[in-house]
Amino acid sequence: MAITGIKGFNDILPGEVEKWQHIEATARRVFELYGLSEIRIPIMEKTELFCRSIGDATDIVEKEMYSFEDKGGNKVTLRPEGTASVMRAYVEHKMHALDPVARLYYMGPMFRYERPQKGRYRQFHQIGAEITGVAAPTVDAQVLTMLTHFFQELGLTEPSLQINSLGCPCCRPAYREALKKFLLDRIDKLCDDCKRRYDTNPLRALDCKSAGCQEATKGAPSMLDHLCPECGDHFDKTRKYLELVGTPYSINPRMVRGLDYYTRTTFEMVTTMLGSQSAVAAGGRYDGLISEIGGPQIPGIGFAMGVERVALLLAEKDFSRRPDLFIAALGDEAHSEAFRLMSALQRLGLAVEIDYEGKSLKSQMRRADKFSSRFTLIIGGDELARGTAPLKNMDVGNQAEVALDAASIHAAMNAGA
Ligand code: ATP
Ligand code: MG
Repeated sequence: MAITGIKGFNDILPGEVEKWQHIEATARRVFELYGLSEIRIPIMEKTELFCRSIGDATDIVEKEMYSFEDKGGNKVTLRPEGTASVMRAYVEHKMHALDPVARLYYMGPMFRYERPQKGRYRQFHQIGAEITGVAAPTVDAQVLTMLTHFFQELGLTEPSLQINSLGCPCCRPAYREALKKFLLDRIDKLCDDCKRRYDTNPLRALDCKSAGCQEATKGAPSMLDHLCPECGDHFDKTRKYLELVGTPYSINPRMVRGLDYYTRTTFEMVTTMLGSQSAVAAGGRYDGLISEIGGPQIPGIGFAMGVERVALLLAEKDFSRRPDLFIAALGDEAHSEAFRLMSALQRLGLAVEIDYEGKSLKSQMRRADKFSSRFTLIIGGDELARGTAPLKNMDVGNQAEVALDAASIHAAMNAGA
């Protein structure tokens, strides 16, 4: 029996991959307008990096990580997310010594042991961005504006931006206690997961999808009413700057993130088009993370988007590429000439196709049709004898006689033939 791939690990085939390339190229182009540089981080890290940064009581660390011992007995994990690795690299290479402000983006596969379904896989891909070294709300507004700009460049009206504040170590503990007190009377309504994390991570009940948790948290106190003056001011200013540049947002006071390191501004790009896989991108501020993993006390903010989910939103759009020219040839000599011209034109920067085996003209034209090339050139014995051949613009339908040399064909195509 043929060997198949692993469940939840997907191939991205030609036809679909063009969409991915478009998403990636758009991200690079937009992020670089905002001064970001790419960083490439390894796919595997020491397990303790994720335990320490993401938090022991989170879904990711409790049940989703691909962790194992390597042959040397080292505990390693396939990265479930990118922020921890980027910050590990930032600290390890003392990037902050040169300039605490680092503006970085990354893209690549992440691994989480989840139940595969539409928009949720075990190997999935993220494009993420991180900005360190600035605590000011202008950066929050800039990151959110950049993310919004990215989706606009893709021509998407979904997803939409939701923001919240999770406060800081100064105001969140009191809120946690207020929330626990509120939930205590309703604890039997909570799902098993939320019951279990009532002590370790009670905020998760706020965005839990189970009906009981939604019922139990109705009317729960809001973090936004418990922000300390500094966090309140930060949130107000972030909103002010978003409004100043016309970045649309709404406030979702129930949004919490599944990772422990977030502080203050948190946000999600949400859509109603992907069922319960509603978050297309998510992120927030992590002012305590860099010091938590052994670096200096430097603030940071970032996000990651799920490329599979962005691709699903782009489902209707066609990104397939068309060759510039298809050369059909009749007879051995014409076939050689087609092969020679193809090679010369490719070196001039054109995408050119021929029929490799020189089949019948009918089957060659079928192939030309399948490629849907912008131009076709048909060469037979007569054309070889005269040294010219008809070049047809397939979109407009007009035709011109061109000399059988690459420069003339190139020029005629540029002129529209
Ligand atoms: P969800 O609530 O859907 O599980 P999450 O909060 O775990 O998402 P993050 O850790 O914030 O997600 O990751 C950021 C983004 O990465 C998500 O918004 C989503 O688009 C994408 N993502 C996360 N997990 C998966 C997965 N298993 N498969 C595909 N995309 C994913
Ligand atoms: Mg998740």
